[in-house]
Amino acid sequence: MSLPPLASGPDGPHALRPLLGTVLDALEDGARARGGPLPAGGPEAVAARLRDAVGDVLPAKGAPDAVRTVVRALAEGAADPADPLCAAHLHCPPLAVAAAADLAASALNPSLDSWDQAPAASALEALVTRALAQEAGAADSLVTTGGTESNQLALLLAREILGRVRLVCGAGAHHSLRRATWLLGLPEPVVVPAPDGILHAKALDAALTGLSGPLLVAATAGTTDAGLIDPLPEIADVCAAHGARLHIDAAYGGGLLFSDLHRTRLAGLERADTLTLDLHKLGWQPVAAGLLAVRDPGDLHTLRHRADYLNADDDTDAGLPDLLGRSLRTTRRPDILKIAVTLKSLGRSGLGTLVDHVCAHAQEFAGLVRAHPAFELYAPPTISTVLFRPAAAPDDTVAAVRRTLLHDGRAVLGRARLGGRLWLKATLLNPHTRPGDLAALLNLVEGSTPR
Ligand SMILES: *Cc1c(COP(=O)(O)O)cnc(C)c1O
Repeated sequence: MSLPPLASGPDGPHALRPLLGTVLDALEDGARARGGPLPAGGPEAVAARLRDAVGDVLPAKGAPDAVRTVVRALAEGAADPADPLCAAHLHCPPLAVAAAADLAASALNPSLDSWDQAPAASALEALVTRALAQEAGAADSLVTTGGTESNQLALLLAREILGRVRLVCGAGAHHSLRRATWLLGLPEPVVVPAPDGILHAKALDAALTGLSGPLLVAATAGTTDAGLIDPLPEIADVCAAHGARLHIDAAYGGGLLFSDLHRTRLAGLERADTLTLDLHKLGWQPVAAGLLAVRDPGDLHTLRHRADYLNADDDTDAGLPDLLGRSLRTTRRPDILKIAVTLKSLGRSGLGTLVDHVCAHAQEFAGLVRAHPAFELYAPPTISTVLFRPAAAPDDTVAAVRRTLLHDGRAVLGRARLGGRLWLKATLLNPHTRPGDLAALLNLVEGSTPR
């Protein structure tokens, strides 16, 4: 019996080519069979179809057709962010060019924990992480699995630099910050009330005035629920006045940096000590593509770590780059490759155009909601999130409408509780969406709302 072929090496591409044809056919078949943004029938029906398609997961003898059957089943049962009616979360449709580059990452399989596993990939990572940090007014950045890991690292750096810091954040801040305080054994965070979803400088100032000890303020540029941007320059001033360290979570809003039209809204970003960016949101990357940027590269020294087999002192002295301090992970995928390929192939203007498109779609959708007597708009959108609800419907009805659409696989909308009421959330991240799609989305919601 011959052994299965490998993906890398001079013969790798030859082995991959027919398999890729099969994968692409299976993706196409699966998407056509689904015929909408989400598989119909709800969790039980989807799981049953998947079980039927996959069968025995570890058969005694292999099934040569597995790549076709399993990929097809996954595609058929996927929530497809490339469908304009799939708009619940900060879950973007990945760019084809980024997915293609990611294939090369899998085939080459560099691991970023030592130079001898990733000679060029580590050099690419150094280049791109610095360039992206500078784009945001910082000095350097680390690659992470996303905003959650970036926020955790930001709290860890603050703890190592300042001691047992207390986190102070607005009520609209991402849940991962509070979770990170729990993980890192930090004091209970101070959550500043934010009735309109924004952390206002006055309220922050009042909260900081009563506090002593080392403080880390976390502001948000693009809240998950509503896409709101905190007043960053004013918050930075308040932090400076109180001697507090500043973290800005720009997991969502950071992508505005690419747009000439919208980047001015991120003024103040450069004043952050640490900054969360997440290119699997407004960067159209396949998961994962997070970054933690730092203004002072010296802050990263606290992550230095030795393991003889990866970065022995004599190896480092002899000139082998030490990569272990660039992450808390050890084995690590070259997520930088798809990012580098995307940045270079689209350029700032290409990415900026995508950002401009989704922001314009949000304005269009908000306009449709405002003009429709059966709907209520939460507020004009800041980035690409639109919160709306059937006018006068109780919260239970709003929740049920969302679940009906999910169950039928016709539309994927999110939900957010703001101002004491439940709202439907459309997070528009698909640059290919057309005005007719947005009208169709609103019609679907109207048709699913009981009167
Ligand atoms: C999405 C998000 C995160 C978490 O990012 P993940 O990539 O899901 O880990 C953190 N902060 C904000 C503001 C976010 O929107």
